[in-house]
Amino acid sequence: MPISGSEIVKMLPGKKPCKDCGFPTCFAFAMKLATGGTTVDKCPYLAQEVKVKLEDLLAPAIKLVTIGSGDDKVQIGNEEVIYRHEKTYIHPTGIALLISDKESEAKVEEKIKKIKELQFPWVGLTLKAELIALNFESGDKNRFLSLVKKAMGSTNLGMILISQDLDTLFSARDICADRRPLLYPITKENIDQAIPKIKANPTPIGVRGGSIEELVPLMMKLKEAGVDEAVLDPGSKNLMEAIKDQTFIRRAALKQGFRPLGYPTIAFPCFMAKGGLKEILTASVFINKFAAIIVLSDFDQYSLLPLLVERLNIYTDPRFPMAVEEKCYEIGEPDENAPVLITSNWALTYFIVASAIEATRVPSFLCVKDAEGLGVLTAWAAGKFSGDSVGAMIKKSGIESKIKNKKIVLPGRVARIKGELEDELPGWEVVVGPREAAGIGTFLPEYVKTLRR
Ligand code: SF4
Repeated sequence: MPISGSEIVKMLPGKKPCKDCGFPTCFAFAMKLATGGTTVDKCPYLAQEVKVKLEDLLAPAIKLVTIGSGDDKVQIGNEEVIYRHEKTYIHPTGIALLISDKESEAKVEEKIKKIKELQFPWVGLTLKAELIALNFESGDKNRFLSLVKKAMGSTNLGMILISQDLDTLFSARDICADRRPLLYPITKENIDQAIPKIKANPTPIGVRGGSIEELVPLMMKLKEAGVDEAVLDPGSKNLMEAIKDQTFIRRAALKQGFRPLGYPTIAFPCFMAKGGLKEILTASVFINKFAAIIVLSDFDQYSLLPLLVERLNIYTDPRFPMAVEEKCYEIGEPDENAPVLITSNWALTYFIVASAIEATRVPSFLCVKDAEGLGVLTAWAAGKFSGDSVGAMIKKSGIESKIKNKKIVLPGRVARIKGELEDELPGWEVVVGPREAAGIGTFLPEYVKTLRR
């Protein structure tokens, strides 16, 4: 549970104030600390035990865990709310593809190819699975280590290493430690042996208990040993139990501030449902209820895409509409006779209009006005797509130096700003275009002919 500024201020030294933290008073510093705007170490006068206590109180209720490295790293945890409508979810569920070392070489190749190639462009984003889970099943340590090397060499993706045999697990970790793999499972049977090995070269771990009750002492032991980057597997036996466990862990962390359960969770639809539609439906439940990582035995475009879209919907911040950057986009290779069109920066509007232009094969400039992520008509109604502001954006964009005919196509739905826009852009002609993007296919090829004449 977050600590308030007024609670923090009671723990501060309350010097004159000295302002050494960069804030005018201890109270101002405390308020900033409470909202995450500064760090405890900025006050040099805190006693060590107060510093440690404050850092603990200010730590996120659910630990941030990073798997992988570089551009392909996956971050999970740090969530602040149980229900998405309370604020927003922050780090989307990581989706992993399971590869067993018992699978044939051809199958391994196929799966690696699949996870690399199954990517879906979606309103300016690329939707994809982002983790590989490598499972030691063969009993042949060298075979598993070869699989780890192969996965390392073939992709930059984050990895989950699964092995009941600790020696094999840590040998695999040593091959790819730079990639920060998640090591799974750490259990009550192997935890004492595992702790020194984890500490020797820290990477995230997956802790599995037979139940939530069993997880708690394991997490306390790890914390005591200074091992804190973990994900939880409560060992749920079936889907009903899993929903109950996932919800319990989330509530305990966020509502009760119960630190031993303040970690993201991992779920294995691959082991619970074993393939087919049932596995994908199970995965879908876990995306909703609150797994930070799900591991799938296999997928194709038809099963993966619905999960990716579901995840996108749940993890898109509902407080902000999806928007694209304000600028003049080039579609095709527009020359000085190319048409110039204007629209608003709601991502959906942009992509529908851009796709309609692309379909005509008429190279064009599409200028996008920042309307705080609203569609054209809504933006106009809210005063964010007026002749003044669109004109100012066009002047600032530099588009004028790229074209010969100073003409701009205005969406038909906001034809009423034509006069205002012409006043703002002296020397320009404002042409009223189609009301809907669907009309661009007919409009644009004819319009470009007039420009070229
Ligand atoms: Fe207060 Fe510490 Fe800031 Fe000084 S440095 S004003 S004691 S919080």
